Amino acid sequence: MSDNTNNPRYIKLNDKDNVAIIANAGGLSEGTLFSCGLTLTEYVPEGHKVALIHLEKDEPIVRYGEVIGFAHSTIKKGSWVKESLVVMNTPPKLDDLPIANKVPEQAEALEGYTFEGYRNEDGTVGTKNVLGITTSVQCVAGVLDYAVKRIKEEILPKYPNVDDVVPLNHNYGCGVAINAPEAEIPIRTVQNMAVHPNFGGEVLVVGLGCEKLVPTRLTPDGSTEDIVSLQDQIGFTNMIDSIMEMADERLARLNKRNRVTCPVSDLVIGMQCGGSDAFSGVTANPALGYAADLLVRAGATVLFSEVTEVRDAIHLLTPRAVNEDVGKALIEEMRWYDHYLQKGEADRSANPSPGNKVGGLTNVVEKSLGSIAKSGSSPIVDVLSPGERATKKGLNFAATPASDFVCGTLQLASGMHLQVFTTGRGTPYGLSMAPVVKVATRNALTQQWHDLIDVNAGTIATGEAAIEEVGWEIFDYIIDVASGHKETWADHWGIHNDLSLFNPAPVT
Ligand code: CA
Repeated sequence: MSDNTNNPRYIKLNDKDNVAIIANAGGLSEGTLFSCGLTLTEYVPEGHKVALIHLEKDEPIVRYGEVIGFAHSTIKKGSWVKESLVVMNTPPKLDDLPIANKVPEQAEALEGYTFEGYRNEDGTVGTKNVLGITTSVQCVAGVLDYAVKRIKEEILPKYPNVDDVVPLNHNYGCGVAINAPEAEIPIRTVQNMAVHPNFGGEVLVVGLGCEKLVPTRLTPDGSTEDIVSLQDQIGFTNMIDSIMEMADERLARLNKRNRVTCPVSDLVIGMQCGGSDAFSGVTANPALGYAADLLVRAGATVLFSEVTEVRDAIHLLTPRAVNEDVGKALIEEMRWYDHYLQKGEADRSANPSPGNKVGGLTNVVEKSLGSIAKSGSSPIVDVLSPGERATKKGLNFAATPASDFVCGTLQLASGMHLQVFTTGRGTPYGLSMAPVVKVATRNALTQQWHDLIDVNAGTIATGEAAIEEVGWEIFDYIIDVASGHKETWADHWGIHNDLSLFNPAPVT
């Protein structure tokens, strides 16, 4: 007899729920009898939903205590609630949402938590000590990559206190409507990344000379001292020599820096999910939400994002806005994105992905309810438009698309020091500018990807660990990685995805 037949398990999250998800690896077969008396009328895969009661056509299907859709036809008790049986409900209307009417009370402060970081002159801190080399246009990317290869081989070994040299290549800068209103998004993203706290106040920009994004827009005070302009150089070797010389000066200064003890309140932690499954909202995201609450209590700045994955749960977030202005700003970001999708003749059904669906997520409503679990239970103190720098401590909503690379890039622009990334299906994603801690939703993924997953939240589904325990584990792990005491698997292997700018403005 298999363990599944011995110990069949489903997870019901809220008393109001009339569906639950199957927790056993490999799913459960027809005829499986649960201790509560429920019998499966057919095979139900792991992470997929079983009907706990008989549902007539058009009756609401409830998970997380919220309606995730309506029955397309009769659904028998104990049967598999397949995607084809669920008619998606419409998203919450944006016009009459409750705002700031359930602002959570300030939780007790967590005192005395520190990490070892690199203190910058402007008061910010870094979790890494990196030379960032920004580009003003993609034309220079090939030249910069050549220079960075040589810097890493010939110069970096002289400076053991420096972690890395990172080229900020992107596809913006020219051939774009630079004065279009929405061009401010990619422009401020590059501007804010150029002065990321992990770069220790050192700025180096490689430009071409004729591009629309003028390189002086990327340096502090528009100074020209930190710019190498390729069209001013005599030949290729001269270009490389100039970049290497300027890199050497900056690396020498960065090498003199040491980690010092800093309060956790100096940290800016980003959160996102990717390759989600039905366990995301049960294990990894609630545990991360618990960690987010701990970080907020310790005074840190925490960013949650991914507009398309909060849109359908927005009615649960606006009440937590700390005041009317923040609530309205949250709604405006949703409205902007509704319009953006409409313009592209896309709608929210473009999410979830096929892999999300195999993992048991039926539609974006269900995905959203699981996604917002990351936000924990703190008040929402501020809303950032895409690529804006975070300025308020506490829980911030940083508006970004859900795309992993675009969200990661925009959170970096917001000043993120470290990202926590939850995954159910599994993705090897990483960033070069800041560490990415990966949290798995299931034990099976942690075992399968034993050398890629940093923290396992699958133990929550099997009852081996409580949400609070894994939440503390994530919190401690963040401090260890931010301090340089632990290395994420992505950094260990050097798995770093390209930056990916969000440019909603026209390309010309
Ligand atoms: Ca994502």
